[in-house]
Amino acid sequence: MKNICILGSTGSIGVNTLDVVGRHPDRYRVVALTANNNLERLLEQCRTHRPAYTVLLDEAKAKTFREQLVSAGLADIKVLCGTAALEEVASLPQVDTVMAAIVGAAGLLPTLAAARAGKTVLLANKEALVMSGQLFMAEVVRSGADLLPIDSEHNAIYQCMPANYHAGRHAAEVRRILLTASGGPFLKTPISELTGVTPDQACAHPKWVMGRKISVDSATMMNKGLEVIEACLLFNVPPEDVQVVIHPQSVIHSLVDYVDGTVLAQMGNPDMRIPIAYALAWPDRFDSGAEPLDLFKVRQLNFEEPDFERFPNLRLAYEAVRAGGTMPAVLNAANEVAVASFLDTQIRFTAIPSIIEHCMETVPIAAADSISAVLAADEEARRVAREFVHTLS
Ligand code: NDP
Repeated sequence: MKNICILGSTGSIGVNTLDVVGRHPDRYRVVALTANNNLERLLEQCRTHRPAYTVLLDEAKAKTFREQLVSAGLADIKVLCGTAALEEVASLPQVDTVMAAIVGAAGLLPTLAAARAGKTVLLANKEALVMSGQLFMAEVVRSGADLLPIDSEHNAIYQCMPANYHAGRHAAEVRRILLTASGGPFLKTPISELTGVTPDQACAHPKWVMGRKISVDSATMMNKGLEVIEACLLFNVPPEDVQVVIHPQSVIHSLVDYVDGTVLAQMGNPDMRIPIAYALAWPDRFDSGAEPLDLFKVRQLNFEEPDFERFPNLRLAYEAVRAGGTMPAVLNAANEVAVASFLDTQIRFTAIPSIIEHCMETVPIAAADSISAVLAADEEARRVAREFVHTLS
């Protein structure tokens, strides 16, 4: 029996994780759940999974939630509050496994706390890794934590890696990583029409149901850009060895090209419960609840080269990882501000890459040799991005 803490349990990944965990009560006990705004869903999750701890960011919400738990006859569930409490539950001695599924930079410190405490870290929160890069990977090595990727692409690559592979190890027998991308909702939209697309259109992903931030990232392909950086770190490869391949069916989740010419791919329906179940059961396998893949329904698998003119964010992500230092943190912070501004209808969809490029050209780049250096770059990039948004809106 393993004890799990789910950071961001009320989000898309959190809900899918609890769905899989609920199928295996003999393997997993829920110790802690954390949320930000969605008290209703958190209460429902407490009724079903009876965690010992919950965490909310805001004191007023935590107070309301304590009252709701008492009314529901669940007064024994502790309600903690604030970012320090997120770090606390992620490193509790009784916790074995931490699902890192908070969206954005807010997930960095709790995910890092889990890595420092040597937990099995199931990493969905790619922004945390992109920001902190080698600092995060060094903590994983130092503490002996197991790091398992949840992003379907990195999970696929992990599954195609040599036997007994551990994240961060360079596998000399691997020539290239082929990172697949569906291309999102605007793969075929005329470029001239992208300026007028709405947040709802951007969030209507053709293959995956996800939170709104990652859905916009998929539409701009920043998601793939962040994943290129994530792949460089998780699999210890240079960016030129990570090739993005557009594969609209989203059936092959990524491929590993070996030096002998063998290419291994991982396939499955586009259902996040598959990578989540893989990571939860690792090194075994168990039922995820996903439908088996029917190749006769799929019929065709197509592949295309990415169009860097249509998706300038992909170019910017390659530039950020090549520049190194705090540049990936700047890219990520600028993107978070730009996406939030687009979702708030303050800026146009096509302004997102302009804001990121402006920040990358303006914010001074430093060595990413401490978390405080990373957080300072993040803060400065947000300030510059907000100022630029102001000039556009
Ligand atoms: P959602 O927006 O659906 O969920 C985000 C979760 O984080 C919610 O529980 C939310 O709480 C919580 N949260 C939001 N802001 C904060 C904050 N400032 N502090 C603490 N908690 C916060 O996101 P997803 O589940 O889609 O994505 C989560 C992560 O997983 C992202 O990094 C994403 O890139 C990654 N990922 C997601 C995939 C997917 O299929 N969804 C696939 C691969 C990776 P509340 O809802 O209560 O406000």
